[in-house]
Amino acid sequence: MTWVWRFVGAVVGLYYRYRLGKNAASVVIPITATCYKMPQPPANKVESRDLSDSHAEIQRAFPLLCSEFRATTGNTLKITCTWRSVARQYELYQIGRRGIPGEPTVTKLDGYGKRSRHNVYPSQAIDVCVVDPAGQIRWTRKCYAPLSSLVGKYGLIWGGDWAMDDFPHLELLSTKA
Ligand SMILES: [Zn+2]
Repeated sequence: MTWVWRFVGAVVGLYYRYRLGKNAASVVIPITATCYKMPQPPANKVESRDLSDSHAEIQRAFPLLCSEFRATTGNTLKITCTWRSVARQYELYQIGRRGIPGEPTVTKLDGYGKRSRHNVYPSQAIDVCVVDPAGQIRWTRKCYAPLSSLVGKYGLIWGGDWAMDDFPHLELLSTKA
């Protein structure tokens, strides 16, 4: 029955958004939270590497993608991040913007004004690294490139296909979220 409450929440949300404008979300969340038990991120953690903290569709698809990636490339995929708190997202956002000469930025999303799909719970995005048969983590982009043709059938998008090129990043197609 949770879909009923989600629907009610969405209608109430739209109403408040119409009446109050952009900041209405803070009003709506307490109303919907009383209707059903919302999944909660892990307590006392700022981020997670557990697949169980990601969306059910990612939990289903990722092991299958891993198997095919290994069969295709000989390398394996290891999760480096699933869910990430808004506070942690803001820390990452500050990298490259805190006045250290030459430090590159890592993200355009500050977690508050612009939210990453890692910041919702359960997460709709995961970050991975490629591990070779010797157990070494590989950070060269070409090790990740096979993801481009593999992810589609698992309902995922690869960040390496974006103009901003976030090649360790995978996220759920919005139609699956
Ligand atoms: Zn990511």
